[in-house]
Amino acid sequence: MIDLPDDRPTAAERKMQFLYALRSKGVTDSAVLTAMEAVDRGPFIRGLFAERAYEDMPLPIACGQTISQPSVVGLMTQALEVSPRDKVLEIGTGSGYQAAILSKLARRVYTIDRHRRLVHEARAIFEQMDLTNITTMTADGSHGLPEQAPFDRIIVTAAAEDPPGPLLAQLKVGGIMVLPVGQSDAVQHLIRVRKTTNGLEYDEMRAVRFVPLLEGLGKDT
Ligand code: SAH
Repeated sequence: MIDLPDDRPTAAERKMQFLYALRSKGVTDSAVLTAMEAVDRGPFIRGLFAERAYEDMPLPIACGQTISQPSVVGLMTQALEVSPRDKVLEIGTGSGYQAAILSKLARRVYTIDRHRRLVHEARAIFEQMDLTNITTMTADGSHGLPEQAPFDRIIVTAAAEDPPGPLLAQLKVGGIMVLPVGQSDAVQHLIRVRKTTNGLEYDEMRAVRFVPLLEGLGKDT
């Protein structure tokens, strides 16, 4: 028998490559990089695509949804400028990966998805990873979470044509919201909204492609 050299990368090499890809795409904030180093993306991806978890690409998850590309997660998290005392709201739990990263940076994370199955699966991973500062909910997140408002930071990981009014209303003065806007079948842009005493300031970031923010609860598949 011939002993073939094993050229698969080791776990340490994979992590190095993962962090290198993030840096080269503009994720330079050290707290964000540390959080992303601490949260293994592997458990958030099941089945066929699990072995691609450490590549910088979006991947399919259950219910016809996608887990975002790590560099986009990094850029959105960086733009959110989260500090350790912050209460953060995420709309679009999906796999739970973005919420897990936020949980390393913020005091408390509330994350909402319209698919019950995704919420249950994400919650199980949070428990496994001992991330105790995340609260999960199944609901239409475009109404926000009035009973916990206002929020220091809000992140939406599904695209709406415009920032939903209830979310803008639930952002604190001094708060930041990051979200993709645009039609789901056309070019979308990430935008950052700052709420100041003088009103809302908008910043346009890069072009992206997200699944649409839909109304009502989803049918689980
Ligand atoms: N942040 C996720 C990726 C999100 S994919 C991750 O880290 O994996 C977008 C998610 O938004 C999908 O799971 C979809 O079900 C959810 N979504 C779409 N419209 C929604 C709405 N109105 N309320 C809550 N979740 C919504």
